[in-house]
Amino acid sequence: MNVLVINCGSSSLKFQLINSETEDVLAKGLCERIGIDGSLTYQPAGKEKVTTEKSMPTHTEAIQFVIDALTDADRGVVKSLEEINAVGHRVVHGGEKFANSVVITDEVISAIAECNDLAPLHNPANLIGINACAKLMPNTPMVAVFDTAFHQTMPESAYMYGLPYEYYEKYKIRRYGFHGTSHSFVSKRVAELLEKPYEELKTIVCHLGNGASVCAVKNGKSVDTSMGLTPLEGLVMGTRSGDIDPAILEFLAKKENLDIAGLMNVLNKKSGVFGLSDNLSSDFRDLTAGAANGNKPAQIALDVFCYRVAKYVGSYTAAMNGVDAIAFTAGIGENVSIVRAKVCEYLGYLGIDVDTEANAKGGEEVVISTPDSKVKVLVVPTNEELAIARETVALI
Ligand code: AMP
Repeated sequence: MNVLVINCGSSSLKFQLINSETEDVLAKGLCERIGIDGSLTYQPAGKEKVTTEKSMPTHTEAIQFVIDALTDADRGVVKSLEEINAVGHRVVHGGEKFANSVVITDEVISAIAECNDLAPLHNPANLIGINACAKLMPNTPMVAVFDTAFHQTMPESAYMYGLPYEYYEKYKIRRYGFHGTSHSFVSKRVAELLEKPYEELKTIVCHLGNGASVCAVKNGKSVDTSMGLTPLEGLVMGTRSGDIDPAILEFLAKKENLDIAGLMNVLNKKSGVFGLSDNLSSDFRDLTAGAANGNKPAQIALDVFCYRVAKYVGSYTAAMNGVDAIAFTAGIGENVSIVRAKVCEYLGYLGIDVDTEANAKGGEEVVISTPDSKVKVLVVPTNEELAIARETVALI
């Protein structure tokens, strides 16, 4: 079966066509600047990537271009639309309504729309993608896979904020967590690699990308995660602040004459390692190069980032009363060995011993702890598209 995996943003659309039997990616690509001017980048497996400028007033045209590219006589990978057997949509926020992936129906679309308030930047865009696909491929089954669903197993003690209870009742203000597809995929893979039953392992997954979160997975269930009502909580990220004293908002509003939108812009777009490095970069390639050349703010950004990750891992070890394995994933977790080394250095008290040579590898599945290490430490590349394709096939 061929599954088209769609990840829709407000002006972009990422896609992969995956053969579910072989799990090969047949083709992948990206539509950008939808509603502005528009371009399609398309890459069939084993062939070069080509970007073409195309007018895309809405996501419907973008998806039509994707279908045209996939079925093109020359560079296409399937003969017709009939060979696209299902569509899996990434949906950011499923609120408390969705603890699992679901086959998309009219009721599901309404329920996702009811979560729009919780993710105003993401959910409406996800719905536009779903509606555009429904229009162009009315007979193809579709599945919604939620970033929040895996974390619906968190206990109240982990998901409630110390706020008046009425706000939870009235507005469902609570911690939801994100990156669930990745945390689920990686924690399962850890169990496979260690040849241990998933239901008996205590794993901490550090998903360290431009957005970053840590998740405690106990006996196959998420019991805590560092992102909250929105992806702003938790770790110091590329440009997001993560946890701060909430009173800073009032202080900054007065000093910098900022309204709520201005403050949120600072916390989401101008903070994190980007802001800490004095606007040098949010990319760890620039930060590590800067730090190596004696750039102090770059070094501070790296230090704060690693310290925050280590603090979360420590607290999740307490939450689970122990930890068997720690996994690093996503752009930074997979590729930046000094981040892994530094985080593990803080965790020496857990009996963690890192094999320096193995840690220098990264970028692939590898156990980076020594055989004697009390806690196993691994690098496990995440693959959210494959996880979405698997969920889609399982449901239809
Ligand atoms: P992600 O959001 O998972 O795609 O991660 C993106 C981030 O990972 C980038 O902003 C970089 O900071 C980091 N990254 C990706 N590839 C590398 C690499 N080869 N070396 C160092 N950092 C990397």
